[in-house]
Amino acid sequence: MKILANDGISALGKQLLEAAGYTVITDKVAQEDLAKAVNEQGIEIVLVRSATTVRKEVIDACPGLKLVGRGGVGMDNIDVAYAREKGVTVINTPASSSQSVAELVMGQLFSLSRFLQDSFKNMENGDFSTLKKNYAKGVELRGKTLGIIGFGRIGQSLASYALGVGMDVIAIDQTSYEIDIPVKVANQVVSVKVKTQTDLNSVLGQLDYISIHVPKQADGRSVITSEEFEKMKKGVRIANAARGGVINETDLIEALNSGIVAACALDVFENEPNPRKDLLSHPKIACTPHIGAATVEAQDRIGEELAQLIIGQFGRK
Ligand code: NAD
Repeated sequence: MKILANDGISALGKQLLEAAGYTVITDKVAQEDLAKAVNEQGIEIVLVRSATTVRKEVIDACPGLKLVGRGGVGMDNIDVAYAREKGVTVINTPASSSQSVAELVMGQLFSLSRFLQDSFKNMENGDFSTLKKNYAKGVELRGKTLGIIGFGRIGQSLASYALGVGMDVIAIDQTSYEIDIPVKVANQVVSVKVKTQTDLNSVLGQLDYISIHVPKQADGRSVITSEEFEKMKKGVRIANAARGGVINETDLIEALNSGIVAACALDVFENEPNPRKDLLSHPKIACTPHIGAATVEAQDRIGEELAQLIIGQFGRK
């Protein structure tokens, strides 16, 4: 059975699949040539991350396709319901990358607090003394309040790190529940109870930092727009490693320019892979190219989980 891992697969995942008798192709096929390659090469399984899309047209054009696997969480690049209706199995690996995304966000929060993104860009050509003055008003994370909007797998993992560095955490979710967050300290695990709030508006004014971890909303709406920015504490710092558009990009730029938002980190963009230039060049925005899950550890877990799911479904060859 032939598998096309069009956005790559970890060495471990490939090795497990090959040992079970599958052929794994990792030569990237351009999006427009995907259906042709699947049909011509007799590929029955297509694995993607976030770059390759598997839409209705590809599913219709590939009658031999049996399974589409998404290494990661969000399946907004696959027409899942349509594929399943046509008898194509769709799988993903929801938990494998939570810790990696949470660690990226912690990096972003530290970076935003000390102007690192701007400093990294300007040290080579800027004036040392001027830059030293520009970055003189950094802030500490410890003792500050982090609002985590969307308290699922990634939100909870982030809470564990944030609590570990001494931040207070306010969890906001559409569902109300209480959960024990494990915080690892040396060889001990301390459990911290966190109860989610369901009314975002009532807590926005208390937050020094905000990180958003909701999926792309079914109706496409932004969870944070100018209405929410108006209720935030002046000087709030924000991170979005969820999906482009869950924070309205135009409203974000306005909130940065008006000083409501001191700095923002974006790992995801509305128009990937061609984000708006005014976001990329903004001195108060720290950008990364959708790398939340891009760690060796997460990719190994993803590869292993995909391999196990595929072997579980189709057996050893
Ligand atoms: P999850 O399903 O475990 O958690 C999402 C949470 O958001 C749920 O608890 C849900 O109730 C809540 N929610 C949804 N809409 C909401 C709203 N409008 N207001 C408040 N809460 C809301 O998902 P997860 O595993 O934590 O992943 C979250 C998202 O992160 C994914 O959907 C994906 O888009 C994104 N992600 C990004 C990367 C990256 O590389 N940057 C990697 C993995 C996942």
